[in-house]
Formats: sequence, structure tokens, C-alpha cells
Amino acid sequence: MDRKNVIEFVYDCERMLRDEYDEVDRVCFFNSMKVLKAMQSAKVSEADLYGTTGYGYNDIGRDKVEEVYRQVFRCEDALVRGQLISGTQALTVAMSAMLRPGDIILSITGKPYDTLDEVIGIKDNDSSLISYGIKYEQIDLIDNEFDKEKIYKMLLAKRVKLITIQRSKGYSTRESIGIDKLARIISDIRRVDKEVIIMVDNCYCEFVTYKEPTEVGADLVVGSLIKNLGAGIATNGGYICGKKKLVELCAERLNVPGQGKEVGPSGNNNRMFLLGLYMAPSVVKSSLKTKLLFSYVMDKLGYKVSPRYNEEMVDIVLNIEFRNKYKLIDFCKVIQSSSAIDSFVEPTPTDMPGYDSQIIMASGSFTQGSSIEISCDGPLREPYIAYLQGSLTYDYGKIAVINVVNKFMEKEENK
Ligand SMILES: *Cc1c(COP(=O)(O)O)cnc(C)c1O
Repeated sequence: MDRKNVIEFVYDCERMLRDEYDEVDRVCFFNSMKVLKAMQSAKVSEADLYGTTGYGYNDIGRDKVEEVYRQVFRCEDALVRGQLISGTQALTVAMSAMLRPGDIILSITGKPYDTLDEVIGIKDNDSSLISYGIKYEQIDLIDNEFDKEKIYKMLLAKRVKLITIQRSKGYSTRESIGIDKLARIISDIRRVDKEVIIMVDNCYCEFVTYKEPTEVGADLVVGSLIKNLGAGIATNGGYICGKKKLVELCAERLNVPGQGKEVGPSGNNNRMFLLGLYMAPSVVKSSLKTKLLFSYVMDKLGYKVSPRYNEEMVDIVLNIEFRNKYKLIDFCKVIQSSSAIDSFVEPTPTDMPGYDSQIIMASGSFTQGSSIEISCDGPLREPYIAYLQGSLTYDYGKIAVINVVNKFMEKEENK
């Protein structure tokens, strides 16, 4: 291929993805209906866009936000707050709210997301769950499947209080957990244990398909508002949706025992959370089309990608395996330089709190660390994988694809 033809090449790739794009459009339409109906039936009004100060009593807008989330997740209750910094804190609050000294938490998708290492106590921390006398157990996936035999044995042998299931793969090479697979394991768990609380880390998976975990039996579903559902409009926040009693426990843990959901000033959040949710189906669509295009193009250029364009899409994340440190760094540099914010900044590998190896990150975003905006990151270890996500609009994603192809061809030529 000639460098003059890069744009033509990317347009050709785009044409090959017609069927996949059609499906993404259908999902977006379905979820847009879901959101619109929820907002209409909650009777969201202009006055609900304004927030409260101080204690945040009588925050009607905040209650409407939570009612809309409740309906979208088709569950009993929701906690959607700016006091939750992001997904990590929402998960921290949910786990702390469910567990008491002596209780067992069991992860059935292997080691959870890196930022939870010190929350749980997988890595020592004086404030971890383990430091409070909570026991942590983990069962790894085998060839991307749940290890049912081990799970059954554990549930029958011990009184497990909380099962946690992380759908998106995080910094691993496993596949993410699709909604059908999630539905099957939840019903299997229920056959041997009616009591155990099933919590799902839904980060990056919202609106990628037709159903959310609470619609297939999860008791509690948790996620970040600087990802899919914030749509680049929410400037921080997290959500916890599910059974009323459990959501109430989370509110009491986050806020004040005895005051629960009644307090927590919303400031400017009501408008941002509602507008963000309103835009989310479409922003997730842009993100998925960007992912498909990158997946197809990088595969053509000879890199191993996961998922491939014709495989099931579970989240907005694409793995691109570079097997070479410098190629990973180059890729991140192009993504950074394709951003609107901090495009002139050169990303360099650094140590990050909560993460194991050095990480390189490209996040030229309007919201710090936002990964629904075009961004990528990767730990500097074999096999040098970039985890790419986002783009608030598809066209900005496509520009990044074109820039990457150009850069990689230029490098080839100068070899
Ligand atoms: C991003 C992510 C988190 C943490 O969410 P933040 O908003 O970054 O704190 C947790 N779990 C998974 C699977 C994630 O992708």
C-alpha cells in the first residue's frame, strides 16, 4: 500500500464492516428507546436539572436520576452519585457495604481489576477488606470458561457471602464475559446457593448489547461514570444498581448510617448525569464502531487483536498485541497526538498507584482519566498489549485510525 492511499484503505476497511455496523446501530436504537422511556416515565422536568448544596436534602433531581437508572437497569433501586469518585470507589463501597468481619468474598473471574488489589488486600494495605477480617477467595477461569466444578464445591463447603464477577477483562488476555454467559453462570449458582449475593463489575459493558446484568439475575451491578454511561459529559461519578436492601446498605456506607440515600448534594451533577445517560447509547455506538475499525485495520497490518471484528462484542475495549515495547509506545503516542486535549504531550511509561508494572497511557481527554474518550493504555510487559477504548464520536476515532496507519507505514519505510 502506498501512503497516499491510506485514507482510501481505511474507507475500504470501513465498507467491509457494514454488517457489524448495522448490528451496532440496532443496539443503539434499542438502548436509546430504553433511556428515553425511562426519562419520560420518571417525568424528568427542567427543574430536575438543578442540584442542591449542603446536606443535599430534598434533592428531587438526584432522586429522578436514580429513578431513571433504576428503570434502565430494570431493578429495584439505584445509587448514582458524584460522591462516588469513579468505578473503583463504587466497587469499594459496594464490597464494604456487603461484607462484615468473617465473611467470605469470592471472585469467580480470577484476579479482579488492578485498582482493587489494595481494596481487597491482595496487596497489603492497612485499610483493605482483609485487614477488617474479611476472607478473600478466587477461582480462575479455565480457557475463558467459568470453573463450575470449583465454584460449586466452594459454595457447598463454605458460606460465601458475596460473589463478584468482572465482565470486562481489565489488563488480562482473557475474553470478556458476555451477557448470555453471565446469565448462565448466575442461574447455575442459584441452583446450589439461593442466598449468596451476586455482584457484577459492569465497567465498559453498559449499552454494548441489549441487556444489563440486573436483567439476568445479578443482585448488584456497579460501574463508572467516566466510562460508558457518563458519555464524556459526567465529569466524575459511579453507579450501583440492584436489590433495594443492598443499594440502601451501599448508601449508608457511602454517606451516613441512618441517612442513606437522603443526603449527598448533587451540585451540577443532575444535569450532567441525565445528559450523559441520554447521550450514552450513541457514544457507546461511536466507541464500538471505532473499536471495529481499529480491530479490522490492525489485523490487516498483521497484529493480533482481540476481539476480531467478527467476534462477539462484550465491552468497548480492544486489545492490540504488539509483542514489542517500542511499537506499543509509538501506538500510544499516536493516540495521544490524535486527541483534542494535550495533543502535544508525549506519553511516557510511569509507575501508577494501584498498578503492578509501569503503564503507558494516552488520555488526551476533557475529563481526567476518562476512557470513553479516545484513549489507550498498556502495561510495559510481555506481550506488550495496548488496551484501546473510546471515542466520543466515530469520526474522531476514524481520524485516529488513519493517523496510526500513517505512522506505522512511515516507520516501515524508514527501516
Ligand atoms: C475501569 C475499570 C474499573 C475502575 O473504574 P474507574 O472508573 O477507572 O475507577 C473497574 N473494573 C473494570 C473492569 C474496569 O474496566
